[in-house]
Amino acid sequence: MNEPAAMNEYAVNLDSYPAYIYDLAGLEAHAAEIRAALPDTEIFYAAKANPDAEILRTLAPHVDGIEVSSGGELTHVRATLPNSRIAFGGPGKTTEELALAHHLNVDRIHVESPRELSRLPGPASVLLRANLPLKTLDAALTMSGPFGMDEPGLDECAGRIAETPGIDLRGIHVHLASGLDAPAMLDLAAQIRDWALPWLEAHGVNDPELNLGGGMAVDYTSPDTRFDWETYGKGLPESPALRIEPGRALTAYHGWYVTDVLDVKTTRGETYVILRGGTHHLRTPVTKGHDQPFKVLTANDPESRATLVGQLCTPKDVFARDVLVPHLSPGDVIAFTMAGAYAWNISHHDFLMHPKPTFHYRR
Ligand SMILES: *Cc1c(COP(=O)(O)O)cnc(C)c1O
Repeated sequence: MNEPAAMNEYAVNLDSYPAYIYDLAGLEAHAAEIRAALPDTEIFYAAKANPDAEILRTLAPHVDGIEVSSGGELTHVRATLPNSRIAFGGPGKTTEELALAHHLNVDRIHVESPRELSRLPGPASVLLRANLPLKTLDAALTMSGPFGMDEPGLDECAGRIAETPGIDLRGIHVHLASGLDAPAMLDLAAQIRDWALPWLEAHGVNDPELNLGGGMAVDYTSPDTRFDWETYGKGLPESPALRIEPGRALTAYHGWYVTDVLDVKTTRGETYVILRGGTHHLRTPVTKGHDQPFKVLTANDPESRATLVGQLCTPKDVFARDVLVPHLSPGDVIAFTMAGAYAWNISHHDFLMHPKPTFHYRR
C-alpha cells in the first residue's frame, strides 16, 4: 500500500497542478478486505461512482461484477473488462440501450417499469427494482420517487414475465437509501428480505436472488471512520443469494485532488485562499454540502481560519469554508482527500475552460 508519506512526496513533486492522484495500491487492499468480510455475498461495483478504467481494472479481481447505469457505462465497462459480469440498472433505459445490453451479454437487467419490460428483448435474466415503503434510519439520500416500482407495478411485471418466453424473473433489486452505517444497512436488509422472499415464492421464482443495492456510508467529516464491513458481512443472512453494489464506500478514499495556492487575500474580515482549478474539477463538496477534507502538504500547524476556493466566477466555488489552515502563500500545495468517488466524473469540467487536471496512478 502507498504510505501517506509516499503519497505526500509524490504529490508535492508533480510537474503541474491541478492533478488527480489515484492510490490503486490502497484501493486494491481495501477491496480485498471488503471481499474477505463478505465471503458469501456477491459484490458488483457501481461504476457510476468512478468509471476510470484503471480503477475498474484494479477492482476487477476483488469483485464479482460491475453495475452500470447507462449504455455509455456499459460500452466502457465491456471494453475495459471484456469478461466481467455486468448488471444494468437505472431509470429510463432506451430501446437502444436495452438492445445493447442484449448484444454485450449483460448478466442481469434491473427492470424499472412495466413499459421498460415490454421493450426488453429476450433472452434476459431480470431483477425487478422494488420501491418499498420501508423505514430507513438516518439516510443521507432516499432513493424513492422515480426509482423502481411499488407493489402493483411489480405484480404487473411478474404477470407479464410469466407470459413471455425468454424473460426470466430471477429476483428483486433494491437500492433504497445512501449514507447508512452497517447496523442500519442490516436492518434494511432484513426488512427487504421479509418482504421479497414471500413475494418471489408467490410468483414461482426458484433460487431467488436479492440485490440489496449500495449506499454504504462515507463520512466526509471523519475520514478515518469507515463503513464496518465486518459487522455487515457477519450480519447478512446466508440465504437467499445476495448481491450488493457499493460505489462510494469502495473508491472514495483512494483519490486525491491536488492543487496549489494562487493567491491569499483578506476581504472584509474574511480570508480566502484561491486555488488553481476549482469545484468544476471536484464538485463533491458543492453537491454534498460539506467541507472537502484536505491536507496542506507544504506547511504545518493550522493557525488561522480561511475559506478555500477555486478560480470560478461564482460564490459557490468553495471547497471548504472557514477552516483552520497553516499560514499559506502562493505555491503551497493542498491535497483534497476522499476524492475517489463522485468527484471528477460528476464535475462540470468545461465551465470557464480552465486546463483539465492531469491524472496519476500510484501502484
Ligand atoms: C448509485 C447507485 C449505487 C451505488 O451507490 P453508492 O452510494 O455509491 O454506494 C448502487 N446501486 C444503484 C442502483 C445506484 O443508483
